[in-house]
Amino acid sequence: MNVRAFACLLPLTVILQTYQADAQSRADRRVIEQLKKDIGYLASDELEGRGTGTEGERKAAAYIEKAYKEAQIAGYNNNYIYPFTFSTGKEIANIAHITVNSDRIKMPEEGFLLPFSANKRAYSEVIPDVLERGNVWLMPLYEEKEDAQDAHFDWEKAAYEKCKSAISHGASGVLLYDNYGAKFPPEFNPKSEYDVLDIPVGYISFKAYQQRFNENQQRTTMPNLSVELNSYLKKAEITGHNVAAFIDNKAPYTVVLGAHYDHLGYGEDGNSLNAKKDRQIHNGADDNASGTAALLQLAAQIKTAKLKHYNYLFINFSGEEMGLIGSKAIVKDAKLDSTKIAYMINMDMLGRLNDSTHKLTVGGIGTSPVWGGVINNKLSKNFKMVIDSSGVGPSDHSSFYYAGVPVLFFFTGIHSDYHKPSDDADKINYAGEAQVIKYIYSVIEKMDKQSKPVFTATKQNSVGKVRFKVTLGIMPDYSFADGGVRVDGVTEGKPAIKAGIKGGDIITQMGEHKINGMQGYMEALSNFAKDDTVDVTIMRDGKPMQVKVTFE
Ligand SMILES: [Zn+2]
Repeated sequence: MNVRAFACLLPLTVILQTYQADAQSRADRRVIEQLKKDIGYLASDELEGRGTGTEGERKAAAYIEKAYKEAQIAGYNNNYIYPFTFSTGKEIANIAHITVNSDRIKMPEEGFLLPFSANKRAYSEVIPDVLERGNVWLMPLYEEKEDAQDAHFDWEKAAYEKCKSAISHGASGVLLYDNYGAKFPPEFNPKSEYDVLDIPVGYISFKAYQQRFNENQQRTTMPNLSVELNSYLKKAEITGHNVAAFIDNKAPYTVVLGAHYDHLGYGEDGNSLNAKKDRQIHNGADDNASGTAALLQLAAQIKTAKLKHYNYLFINFSGEEMGLIGSKAIVKDAKLDSTKIAYMINMDMLGRLNDSTHKLTVGGIGTSPVWGGVINNKLSKNFKMVIDSSGVGPSDHSSFYYAGVPVLFFFTGIHSDYHKPSDDADKINYAGEAQVIKYIYSVIEKMDKQSKPVFTATKQNSVGKVRFKVTLGIMPDYSFADGGVRVDGVTEGKPAIKAGIKGGDIITQMGEHKINGMQGYMEALSNFAKDDTVDVTIMRDGKPMQVKVTFE
């Protein structure tokens, strides 16, 4: 039976309803088609996992920029691309080298300079097992064969201690060698937290040592072997790119809608959960091509609907996976005045709505008294809402919350492909995501009729703190690599804020523990218990300061 022919027999109201339902599903289908196109491209192998600062990130940014142009939305301050640069630790400069009898060691395959090596040159003749003052010392890295077979052996610590002892005996440089053919050979650690030593130090592999030294030694007479360590380590930096577009309604306040578009690349930065640890593209369809596509969709809809009580700023963040770096950078950007932001909505992983549970997580409810009333409407009934009050979470809204902005965070939940190469476009629930987008739009539409929401601070939830008996209540800057832990924000009601620690402070000492970086910070923290009071040294505006922190 033909539906149209049948429809003309029905009363008018029913016909209208039928027509409306039809039109709606056509719009839904258009949204679904666009989501498939956007997520399909962003999560394709061509973009190589959209690692921050890579060619794949650049291609994704160009795609996003083009989408805004097609929707006739201008760049923010006439500019779509907002670069930000951050430190990723240390790297060995090209001019640095290790030579044995004027034969260069191939870095990093045959060896490398250690991250705590001084930027100096040392040169001398080397006689194995003869350790003389003023000479470069050739030393075995492992004391025991078992250490060379143990994945958990702290080779860096062993190397550091050997070098310190060599310095105290007058060595001008140290070349450590793998004396057992380690099962887990040392790799250069760009985030090493050891203080730089006074002499250059290097490491060569088992094979390189055999070729350069042992085979020579087999000959009848002791050859004259000379070693040169020419060390030059420098700060390694990455430049990522946020994309920002703006609807300027000449309103006093601006709404920020955001989603990160970067992902894990080939999984090289240590955030991958790929069990095989091989080099594979992490396509990041759900995380977060899904949120990126949702943001583009919402931007186009807001433009068409002419919502105008606020200005609308759309930000596609990069650097999220490396520690919310892009969102922190744009919050700090002088052109963005956080007191003029009405509220911020963050979308991270919207593509896996479960068709049987319909679970949708909404975070940040405690950041403004208005949220409770706003998030419940006709469309929210389509979901089983999981409410989280905290303004702090594992995504970019935290950066805005710490700047005093009311936030909402939307998320369809964690799954077994999370941070794995298998987070692919064919696993996205496109119809489900279209529903979520429609719901988020309804929240934005409702807010467009209301005045700027009031900000309230929230208690941080306790997820992810199981390893520690205590918490300090800070949000660390994971990109900071100048010694110590830089505080990006402090949580209301926690020990840090009570002790007077604030954003921008650098923690350098806790009790007797010197803090050189995140690793040291976590280790120090694990030593404290409830009710302990410790002296904490911070650097504020370049000057050291001491505060007393009481853990609770
Ligand atoms: Zn992620």
